[in-house]
Amino acid sequence: MYRSLLAINALCVSVLWSQAPATKPAQLSVHWEELTAADFKDGIGKAQGTCLLPFGIMEKHGPHLPLGNDLLNVRYVALNAAQQEYAIVFPEYYFGQIFEAKHEPGTVAYTRGLQLQLLQETTDEMARNGCKKIIIVNGHGGNNSLLPFFAQSQLEAPHDYVVYVLGITRAGPGEPKHKSNPATDMHAGESETSLSMIARPDLVHLDRAAQESGADQGRLKGLPEGLYTGIWWYARFPNHYAGEGAVASRELGDFEAKTWINGVVQAIRAVKADSESLRLQNEFSERSKDPLKTPQ
Ligand SMILES: [Zn+2]
Repeated sequence: MYRSLLAINALCVSVLWSQAPATKPAQLSVHWEELTAADFKDGIGKAQGTCLLPFGIMEKHGPHLPLGNDLLNVRYVALNAAQQEYAIVFPEYYFGQIFEAKHEPGTVAYTRGLQLQLLQETTDEMARNGCKKIIIVNGHGGNNSLLPFFAQSQLEAPHDYVVYVLGITRAGPGEPKHKSNPATDMHAGESETSLSMIARPDLVHLDRAAQESGADQGRLKGLPEGLYTGIWWYARFPNHYAGEGAVASRELGDFEAKTWINGVVQAIRAVKADSESLRLQNEFSERSKDPLKTPQ
């Protein structure tokens, strides 16, 4: 009895104690999932309706980087950028185009239709919640065709929001000298591994980076440039590794991180200032309903 009274007492004290300090955080979180419903409303106002959708993937990254490398890096960059220029960051999203790595363990490759439908429903839901300006921050090269197509296809039907797509900003003034060939420094190579050494150094196994070859196998060299076929990547990089991760450095990673973060910050500012895209989109939708009324 005495014990349970004590326990109740302790509970009351802890409840009182937890209510005593200011419960509202001084700063609104940029993480969608960390906000309360009321704080989310404030966050949308503070962000002027601008939200980020960092887009990663689940795929092999050479012999030395984690499967979720692109997701981890793009979120590191997006979250840091949103803290500099407030925007709400959507939770983990990795449902993109990665058919070319289906032969490697750990790849999660959703079907083409589902990728587009899920992305549409995600941006629709974001917009329904006040994200009228959505920046998809792409962290995965395999999405480079999917995302512009998705953005373009927003003209299929009227939308009360705008989708912007932002790729990786890499080169810039003050860039440290690379040790490997920039032409093949693509997937789990020097640049990407360097960035991972900043975002999640605990997951980089630099000692394993030379266990496989990231060299270009050039197995479709006979085809002229501009003639595209989906097997091109596998033809060149069958180990799903392009470049030399072993020569990565924190110095380059630091540059890569700052450059990309800055690129996202600039994009958030430009998008907040942009009212023209939605105005034109609305004008276009109106005219599309009756093209014969469009002035000729
Ligand atoms: Zn990657």
